[in-house]
Amino acid sequence: MLTSDIWESTISQIKDSLPESEFSSWFSRLVFGGEDNGKVTLYVPSAFVRDRFESNYKELIENSLSEIGEQSFSVSFEIKKDAHPQQMAAKSEETPKTEPSKPEAKPAKTPKASADDMMFNPAYTFESFVAGDNSSFAYSACLAIAKNPGSAYNPCLLYGGVGLGKTHLIQSIGNYIKKNTKLKVTYVTAENFTNEYIQSLNDKNPQQFKNKYRKVNVLLIDDIHFLQKKEGIQNELFNTFNDLYDTGRQIVFTCDRPVEELKDISDRLRSRFERGLNIDLLPPNYETRVAILRKKCQEKGVEFSDEVIEYIAANISSNVRALESCLTKLIAYSELLHKDISLETAKEQLKHIISSNNDTSGISIDLIIRVVSSYFNVSPFDIKGKNKNQSVVLPRQLAMYLCRKLTDFSTTEIGSEFGGKNHTTVMYNVQKMEARLRSSEKEINNLIEKLETQIKLESKK
Ligand code: ADP
Ligand code: MG
Repeated sequence: MLTSDIWESTISQIKDSLPESEFSSWFSRLVFGGEDNGKVTLYVPSAFVRDRFESNYKELIENSLSEIGEQSFSVSFEIKKDAHPQQMAAKSEETPKTEPSKPEAKPAKTPKASADDMMFNPAYTFESFVAGDNSSFAYSACLAIAKNPGSAYNPCLLYGGVGLGKTHLIQSIGNYIKKNTKLKVTYVTAENFTNEYIQSLNDKNPQQFKNKYRKVNVLLIDDIHFLQKKEGIQNELFNTFNDLYDTGRQIVFTCDRPVEELKDISDRLRSRFERGLNIDLLPPNYETRVAILRKKCQEKGVEFSDEVIEYIAANISSNVRALESCLTKLIAYSELLHKDISLETAKEQLKHIISSNNDTSGISIDLIIRVVSSYFNVSPFDIKGKNKNQSVVLPRQLAMYLCRKLTDFSTTEIGSEFGGKNHTTVMYNVQKMEARLRSSEKEINNLIEKLETQIKLESKK
């Protein structure tokens, strides 16, 4: 059973393990909701805060609770605005339960941050971002926007695959502006923007929604790919965009793909996204991955040997979030067992994360052709065909190369899937690609990493 003593000790242990600003920014928003048979419910005020807790603190809370409570606890987060803490089990069974909670009882800690502040993760700043080979352009543009919103790059759209730092950068703009100016800056995910709009229609008060978004100086909208197929909200965003843009206010978007690859988006909205600056965020190269890992260790106040850092950087290439998960796992392990991390321990502890990252079991030739053809906007039929047009030859070579790299099919099998081609044709194309890679053509390297990440992601769907 979860007693109030256990909960308080858990919170105070977590408090000691995190930087003060991080603890107060996040844990002041957490309200104990109840416990049933080891399953603990915690209330959070928004989907954004819930996602942060899910990805950053769930394991930490569960480990601390289980360690202090000496039994296994699992934790789930529920969104509840203005939540009040549920009465918790008293310290021991014998303690008489004489003090029912008063209706006017206040939560132990009342969140101090305003609703808008709560949309910002204080950890996402320009200082904590490593501007590497893959992101220095995006970083510089975002910093320029933060220093001078509404002038140089307006609107701006950052795009790239998952876990490459889009949310970190767009939020850095917001944190910078909030810290250094009095401008009104609002961050919202496209999903929440949609939900709020629907809510305003249900409440028969769409004006309130319009006012909220049209009186800001800087509007940051994350993950606009969510708007595909949603006509009503696309219109609303179009009108909001025009209103802000025409009066020189700054708008920044993020998206998981280039605008031309968005489907079911109205032409007029697409043209608004394309206006201004569009910047690609790519997967980081090895040196950048090492630099990011070192920076994260420094922030978390931990030290790992070079060989451990290099092992992680060599084995996780596609996304920064996965790099961070490796660190979190090793930190939890070394803290809980009071042990230093050797290379052997790191390999053992990380084998699941690394193998699932490198897992290519669900990848078919068809999937590779589909991802590559959709990326280049050519038809799978052309990729499989004989057309020697340059616009098809490169996608075809890339697709064949990726089939060899990511599947166990022989060149004969691959040839037959590519419209009945001879295995020597496949070998020729694969070798051509390998030669380009050896000559370190940066663009080709980046392209292959990007396509590989997309293929692996799609294969897990
Ligand atoms: P995205 O929004 O593109 O899916 P996020 O911005 O959520 O990715 O990044 C995932 C995690 O990786 C975050 O914790 C972020 O801080 C971290 N991250 C990504 N790129 C960098 C970078 N260049 N430097 C430092 N941290 C990074
Ligand atoms: Mg994101």
